[in-house]
Amino acid sequence: MTEPVHRNFIGGSWREGADARPNINPSDTTDVIGRYAQAATGDVADAIAAAAKAFETWQFSSIQDRFDALDRIGTELLARREELGRLLSREEGKTLKEGIGEVARAGSVFKFFAGECLRIPGELLASTRPGVTVEVTREPVGVVGMITPWNFPIAIPAWKIAPALCYGNTVLFKPAELVPGCAWALTEIISRAGLPPGVFNLVMGKGAVVGEALVASPAVSAISFTGSVATGQSVVAKATARGAKVQVEMGGKNPLVVLDDADLEIAANCALNGAYFSTGQRCTASSRLIVTQGVHDRFVAALKQKLEAVKVGHALEPATDIGPVVDDKQLAQDLSYLDIGRKEGAKLAFGGRRLERSTPGFYLEPALFTDSAPGMRINQEEIFGPVASVIRVRDFDEALAVANGVPFGLSAGIVTTSLKHAAAFRRRSQAGMVMVNVPTAGVDYHVPFGGRKSSSYGPREQGRYAMDFYTTVKTAYIAP
Ligand code: NAD
Repeated sequence: MTEPVHRNFIGGSWREGADARPNINPSDTTDVIGRYAQAATGDVADAIAAAAKAFETWQFSSIQDRFDALDRIGTELLARREELGRLLSREEGKTLKEGIGEVARAGSVFKFFAGECLRIPGELLASTRPGVTVEVTREPVGVVGMITPWNFPIAIPAWKIAPALCYGNTVLFKPAELVPGCAWALTEIISRAGLPPGVFNLVMGKGAVVGEALVASPAVSAISFTGSVATGQSVVAKATARGAKVQVEMGGKNPLVVLDDADLEIAANCALNGAYFSTGQRCTASSRLIVTQGVHDRFVAALKQKLEAVKVGHALEPATDIGPVVDDKQLAQDLSYLDIGRKEGAKLAFGGRRLERSTPGFYLEPALFTDSAPGMRINQEEIFGPVASVIRVRDFDEALAVANGVPFGLSAGIVTTSLKHAAAFRRRSQAGMVMVNVPTAGVDYHVPFGGRKSSSYGPREQGRYAMDFYTTVKTAYIAP
C-alpha cells in the first residue's frame, strides 16, 4: 500500500494537489521521508481567495485570541523539539543538535510574537489645530504570501508566520520544495491552534508555479521572501511593479576579519563554527576569512587542526559535527566552485573531497582555500557549502576594505582584542549585522535580522522591527 500524501491546507481543509513529490533524506537517499502534495494553479487561487475572505474578519480579531493561538503553537513546538528536530535533520541534513535548536528557536519566535500581540503600539499626539487630537495606529497589511528557502525549514517560516498573524494578517505559506516535512508538521500544529478557516494556508509546490502565482496575485498585499539573489530580485521586480509591499532576504558572502591581536582560540572557533557548521549552508556563513599577516600562518594552522577533528556524517548520528550537503544540485555547485578556486590560483589547503559513508548521501569534506585574492569568484560569489577561503591582508584598513568589497552585506565579523578596531569595524562595516568575537552565523530571535546591498530589500525581519513590514500606519484626526 502506498503511503498517504501529506496534503496542502487550504481554507481550513486538507487538500490533495495536482501531483505528489517524495521527500528524500540527504544523509541516506534510500530513505524517503514521505510524499507531499504539489499545488496546482487552481489550488493556489482557492488558497488566495480563502485568505482574502478570512482577512475580512481576522483583521479585527481580538489580541487575546491571537495571543492564545501563537502561544499554543509556540508551546507545542517547544514540547516536541526533539521529535521535530529529528524530522528537520532527516530532511535537511543539519545535525540533530542543530535541528533541535532550530525547532526550539521557532517555538521561541511564536512565544515572542504571542507577547507582541499584547503590545501593539500606537501614538496619541496633540494637533497643530486647537481642539483636534491626532491618533497614529498600526493596522494589518492584508493577505501576505511567504516564500521560504530550504536551509532553515522551520525557523524562517516561523519568523514570517508569527508576526504576520500577530498583527492581524492572513497567510499563504509556500515552503521550499526540498523541505516540505517541517512545513507540513508546522501547519498541522497551526491547524489545531484555534485560528478561523483561511487565516493560515499551506501551498506546497514549485517556485515557478506556486511562488509565481503568489507574487502575481493582486489579492496578495505583501510578499515576504527568503532565498537566492536571482529569485529574490525577480520577486522584487514583479511585486513592486504591481504595487505590493515586499521584503526579501537573499544571499551573503560574509567576512570574518582576524586581526594580529586576536585571541587565536576564539578566532579559530569562530571560523570553524561560522564557515562550516550547518554544512556552510547558512546565509550568514563566514566564507571569507580575512586575516592580517602577523597572525595569518598561526591562524591557518589552528583552523586546519580543528578541521582535522571534524566528523562529517549522517545527520542523525550523535558523533556527527557536519551533515551532508542538501542535494546533488548543491553538491555539484560546491564541487564546481572548488574547481574554480583551484583554476583561479587559490591553494586548497584542506579537504574538498567527496566522502563515502555507510549510507548513500551527499557528503563533502569541509574545504579551506588559502592564498586567495579578494577579486576571485570564490571570494565574490555565494557558494553555499562547507567551503571558505583565507585572504591575507596587511592591516585593519585593508581588512575593512576587503570585508566591504563584495556586492553583499548581510553579516560581518571581527576577532580582535582592540576596542578601537572593534568600534571602527562596527561603524564602518557595510553589513546589516556585525559580530565582535562571535561567529557571523547564529543570531537571537528577539532582535532585527537582515542585511544591506544585494543581501536584502525592504524592512527588517524579526523582533519588534517585524512590525514595519506586517503593519501599515493610519493617522486619524479627531475633533469633538
Ligand atoms: P531559491 O531562491 O532557489 O528558492 C527560495 C524559494 O523561492 C523556494 O521556496 C522556491 O521554490 C521559490 N521560488 C523559486 N522560483 C521562484 C519564482 N520564480 N517565483 C517565486 N518563488 C520562487 O533559494 P534556496 O536555494 O531555497 O535557498 C538558498 C538561498 O537562500 C541562498 O542564496 C541563501 O543565502 C538564501 N538565504 C538567505 C537568508 C537571509 O535571510 N538573507 C536566509 C536563508 C537563506
